Amino acid sequence: MTSTLKRLGALTTLALACQTLVHAAEPVLNIYSARHYQTDEALYSDFTKQTGIKINRLDGKEDELLERIKNEGRNSPADILITVDAARLEMADDAGLFQPINSKVLQSRIPDHLRTPNWIAFSTRARAIVYNRAGVKAEWVQTYADLANPRLKGQVCMRSGSHPYNLSLGASMIAHEGEAATEAWARGLVQNFAREPKGGDTDQLKAVAAGECGVTISNSYYLARLLRSTKPADRKAADALNIVWPNQKTYGAHINVSGAGIIKTAPNKEAAIKFLEYLSSDKAQAYFADGNNEWPAVSSVKIDNEALKAMGNFKADTLPMEDMARNAVKAQKAFDRAGWR
Ligand code: FE
Repeated sequence: MTSTLKRLGALTTLALACQTLVHAAEPVLNIYSARHYQTDEALYSDFTKQTGIKINRLDGKEDELLERIKNEGRNSPADILITVDAARLEMADDAGLFQPINSKVLQSRIPDHLRTPNWIAFSTRARAIVYNRAGVKAEWVQTYADLANPRLKGQVCMRSGSHPYNLSLGASMIAHEGEAATEAWARGLVQNFAREPKGGDTDQLKAVAAGECGVTISNSYYLARLLRSTKPADRKAADALNIVWPNQKTYGAHINVSGAGIIKTAPNKEAAIKFLEYLSSDKAQAYFADGNNEWPAVSSVKIDNEALKAMGNFKADTLPMEDMARNAVKAQKAFDRAGWR
């Protein structure tokens, strides 16, 4: 972080703290968020309208926000941390940032496997296999394991093995199949790489669409974005691609989450619980998920999203988020040994 950013950060903390002090009588909630989607704005204003609780939001990158809460210590104005990826949420929890969430509403609304004692998932995304229709046959890429088959030599594009999305995938694989099998898979995958890992999931999708590689693994919402895009180049890319929901004959497609926890030192704990409960309401769930083309954690919630419809229904892995997230460090080590940089 540059010193200017640091200074800006310190000022915002001060501003947040002052607001809390000056308007002590007016209920507020301080949210640190690593989710930045325009539709989320509607969520926040709707909550304020419903409850009269004013939201002060600090947006930042996950790692910066985590560091910041740690550095602010007991004086942190943060009530809630919202971020994506189970491994990151677990990391925050391991660092002792969260407190237990006691809420009957959340217990009844959010399925067991999407809840841990100290953090809760509000929407899900799947790690899907996406291939080039012209270059690869669907039957070659039905499982994550298939991508390590030597038949796909020189055909696989992936983002870095250190990225949390891949670490969470590796962590779930370790939970299902063990460390040795996961390392062997990563080795096979690396052998099949068309190029050194670079860029994000969207870059892999575009490379697959362009025929630079035949197949990749991408979070579902990146494909949904291409499907919903009005840019001709994106439309063309989407047309070249097909999606496969992996592992449908076994434990289902790996899913990851957007989630939140209440900070241990939260000055406005009651408001924080209210906000998390609000996020589990039908209306908020639809907004929250649709804002990033995700699926609501509350499965009964109706969504109206053409891209999600187009991608179709699938069997999702129901491995508890906690069991998965605790393997993230092992996954990183297995990927390192396999040479997946
Ligand atoms: Fe993402």
